[in-house]
Amino acid sequence: MTTSRTVLVTGGNRGIGFAIAERFVAEGHRVAVTARSGEGPEGTLTVTADVTDWASVDAAFTEVEQALGPIEVVVANAGITKDMLLMRMSDDDFTSVVDTNLGGAFRVVKRASKGMLKARFGRIVLISSVVGLYGGAGQANYSASKSALVGFARSLTRELGARGITANVVAPGFIETDMTAVLPEQQQADYKKSIPAGRFGSTDEVAGVVSWLSGDDAGYISGAVIPVDGGLGMGH
Ligand code: NDP
Repeated sequence: MTTSRTVLVTGGNRGIGFAIAERFVAEGHRVAVTARSGEGPEGTLTVTADVTDWASVDAAFTEVEQALGPIEVVVANAGITKDMLLMRMSDDDFTSVVDTNLGGAFRVVKRASKGMLKARFGRIVLISSVVGLYGGAGQANYSASKSALVGFARSLTRELGARGITANVVAPGFIETDMTAVLPEQQQADYKKSIPAGRFGSTDEVAGVVSWLSGDDAGYISGAVIPVDGGLGMGH
């Protein structure tokens, strides 16, 4: 990424979002992160926001715009899992995951698009998952929410593409974070066997791709799904 931009990353207090924010700071951008708790990396402005709540998202954007200027790059990263086999999955397990992962992206992007349309420039990056296209037993809620981001990004591309705005999806595989640390050791070993790279990825490996997609060199890429999964999801 060459031009200095104002960037907002949701869920930037830990894991993948933290690494993405760190990368943008290192590249010299003005970076804000949203968090429900904790802080973003050094050099970022942290604002409180719950992505399931429109008023909270709106207030966070206003705060960032006042401090750093109009948001040019938005990374919808905040996400949750509530894994459960279908027969035992409650309505709340389903709707809360969809409302955070898909509804959250909708609220954040809708709010960001206001300034982007005015500026006739914007980079929208949605953090999906290999599970969105590959599927996952016990993850019907999560998988549905993550694959929906593809349709969302492609609709944004058709709607906003002529205004200098791109919308892309990054689909990480297994990345070393709190989300994967809770998996039983045996399950982690089994997963590693099925990943062509033979290992989990690092948060930096996701951050690098997000940064590139947000940069000047990626201005003609939109509606794409970029896997960062060590080959796990090939062909999906
Ligand atoms: P973590 O569980 O480490 O972090 C999740 C982040 O989302 C936290 O910052 C959390 O904030 C935030 N968040 C959750 N719910 C809300 C909410 N309602 N409002 C605002 N923020 C919220 O996750 P990862 O870093 O592992 O994952 C980041 C993204 O990458 C997610 O979308 C995830 O689905 C995706 N992903 C992760 C993979 C992995 O292997 N780790 C693989 C594929 C995709 P708080 O701390 O305040 O709760």
